[in-house]
Amino acid sequence: KVIIQTENIGRRYVMGHEVIEALKSVTISIRQGEYVAFMGPSGSGKSTLMNIIGALDTPSSGRYVLNGKDVSNMGEDELAEIRNKEIGFVFQTFNLLPRSSALDNVALPLIYAGYSKSERTEMAMNALRGVGLENRASHKPNELSGGQRQRVAIARALVNNPSIILADEPTGNLDSKTSYDIMDLFEELHKKGNTIIMVTHEEDIAHYAHRIVRLRDGLVESDKINENVTNAR
Ligand code: ADP
Ligand code: ADP
Repeated sequence: KVIIQTENIGRRYVMGHEVIEALKSVTISIRQGEYVAFMGPSGSGKSTLMNIIGALDTPSSGRYVLNGKDVSNMGEDELAEIRNKEIGFVFQTFNLLPRSSALDNVALPLIYAGYSKSERTEMAMNALRGVGLENRASHKPNELSGGQRQRVAIARALVNNPSIILADEPTGNLDSKTSYDIMDLFEELHKKGNTIIMVTHEEDIAHYAHRIVRLRDGLVESDKINENVTNAR
């Protein structure tokens, strides 16, 4: 089943009388359960494309269908609803609330989704267990290592059972060993059937993904199945 379909999407930014074509015409189809890496030089359009796929932004031209819904022309409220339901975001900088426990950070998206306190606690504990951090539930971010913080962020991304996990440079702030541990976790999530898209500029990290899409100047330069998937286990 195709979960992401972009059809000739373009995204223009107008700056005074200069027009920047961040995306020219991008057609990508991603099926449920795929694990894809987006690569490309700085300025090639990776963030712009991820923002559109994550329903943070809409294309200036072309069509984007996410899980059967055409989101190309949705307004901000509809987009926000789609994001909350369909997308789990993982960021380079973790984006955790510093004063809240790991459990409360993970439970946060469930507040907006309207779950009761006891449901939130149970779902957040399950998500923490899934990333191997059930014994760190009451720790605050500054009491956790970088890798543990990213695991908390991944648990938060997963807690709603989103259709897609979008990870923007998920290992950008981690040392190599910790990065590979996080990639092992992504492989585990992939094996469980999660759809994962990550942006990275690190070739060795991209090779954990099962498909690598390279962008250049707002176009897809190549889109290949990765025959040599790295698996550190
Ligand atoms: P990447 O993530 O691959 O570095 P981006 O998608 O951030 O690339 O940027 C693609 C192009 O669009 C770049 O030339 C960038 O300067 C431009 N761009 C991105 N965001 C904006 C914006 N909000 N306003 C104007 N130009 C932008
Ligand atoms: P960058 O790629 O420039 O380091 P981020 O990955 O932190 O930036 O964020 C990318 C975009 O997503 C930003 O415009 C940010 O405001 C937005 N954003 C960050 N967190 C969320 C969230 N939980 N839900 C919706 N949008 C978010």
